[in-house]
Amino acid sequence: MNNAYLNRVFEKVKQRDPNEKEFIQAVQEVLESIEPVIEQRPDFEKAGIVERMVEPERIITFRVSWVDDQGNVQVNRGFRVQFNSAIGPYKGGLRLHPSVTLSVIKFLGFEQCFKNALTGLPIGGGKGGSDFDPKGKSNNEIMRFCQSFMIELQRHIGQFTDVPAGDIGVGAREIGFMYGQYKRLQNEFTGILTGKGLSYGGSLARTEATGYGLCYFVDEMLKHKGESFNGKTVVVSGSGNVAIYATEKATQLGAKVVTLSDSNGYIYDPNGINLEVAKDIKEVKRGRIKEYVERVPGSVYTEGRGVWSVKCDIALPCATQNELNEDDAKSLIANGCKYVAEGANMPSTPEAADLFKSMGVFFGPGKAANAGGVATSALEMCQNSMRLAWTFEEVDAKLKGIMQNIFKSAIEAASEYGSADDLVLGANAAGMQRIAEAMLCHGVAY
Ligand code: NDP
Repeated sequence: MNNAYLNRVFEKVKQRDPNEKEFIQAVQEVLESIEPVIEQRPDFEKAGIVERMVEPERIITFRVSWVDDQGNVQVNRGFRVQFNSAIGPYKGGLRLHPSVTLSVIKFLGFEQCFKNALTGLPIGGGKGGSDFDPKGKSNNEIMRFCQSFMIELQRHIGQFTDVPAGDIGVGAREIGFMYGQYKRLQNEFTGILTGKGLSYGGSLARTEATGYGLCYFVDEMLKHKGESFNGKTVVVSGSGNVAIYATEKATQLGAKVVTLSDSNGYIYDPNGINLEVAKDIKEVKRGRIKEYVERVPGSVYTEGRGVWSVKCDIALPCATQNELNEDDAKSLIANGCKYVAEGANMPSTPEAADLFKSMGVFFGPGKAANAGGVATSALEMCQNSMRLAWTFEEVDAKLKGIMQNIFKSAIEAASEYGSADDLVLGANAAGMQRIAEAMLCHGVAY
């Protein structure tokens, strides 16, 4: 980073929170890429835009105590980071995973601001969650945890203030339990969460949105290079919401997806993933991905990481942060992979992302490529406010249009700043400018 102002801001971030490694990584990635914007806009420095952007407007941490099935009291830590509300109410998911820390939630909230700005919709950025581990918990334990979590969270959210959604470990079931608790406590029926069930205000196509949106984005990347999904081999990591629906859409668009994974290992199916089986294991039985090979002849399960050693044209990391490192990137490149697009948030380490860039792999960063989820959440908010429900086709068509626009904004910003095809720069620059313009209008409180 050469720009003195950005360096100053970055040093301050490191000095303030030296132990927040994920947050520092996310800030570094953004600051490095927005150098050309800062060079052209001295008014941003004058108004202290970047130092304000890296500091959350509000951080809430709270105790979540609940009783397990054996009658023991358990205590987890809950978080909500309300990062930036310059362009709309805070919006971003809730993550339930033992790896959740303030650093993880801050990195996710920070990225969310840019992503949400890129969608062109009126949503600010936030993120939340808890270090609660849903794995192996009974339905009643999940319910009691979600209710306890909402007892505190309800004070801080609202349809015009902050509208959380799902993320890792938070799907329709958890959103349902949280929504029910909010309604009991507040005695009102408003769109305070997205990813809701269809019977109480959810949007059609929200479940599919992140995975589908990712593929619409990749389709634009492919078209940009005069290619299409047709006949391409795709490697997908993860086997959760994003991975399943990315697999579904890539398959519909003519590609063959050959892998899915979880934190224990990965499956390889040379005939293309059988989605009916994968959905039954993950969505109905809540099982492990290795069960797939017991049901689909010809498929193989490999314990451990290693999904990126499988030969492919397109790689879609859809599990979690830093799941694809430099060695993985080398092996993808050696096997001829030409496109990488991030379904997960920050799945590629900085070294991996740099390697993709230097070796000419067309790289779609998460904040652009996986923005379809939050965009459709904003469409859910819109339907809730209007007391209307759009059809699946209506929502899907809007999602596709939004993803095409995101690609257009990012690719145009990349070439405006002299770095054609650099979608990291393009996405960060376009998102940052929209937020910064709004912050300039709002002034600073003295
Ligand atoms: P899910 O909980 O549905 O699935 C997560 C998947 O990733 C599971 O297969 C899980 O395996 C795997 N995984 C999680 N942690 C690890 C780990 N440490 N190592 C290896 N695998 C891991 O989550 P989502 O599909 O919703 O989210 C996946 C990613 O996409 C996240 O980065 C999320 O932030 C991002 N995202 C999600 C959006 C959404 O709408 N859902 C929107 C935009 C981004 P296991 O069961 O073994 O833990």
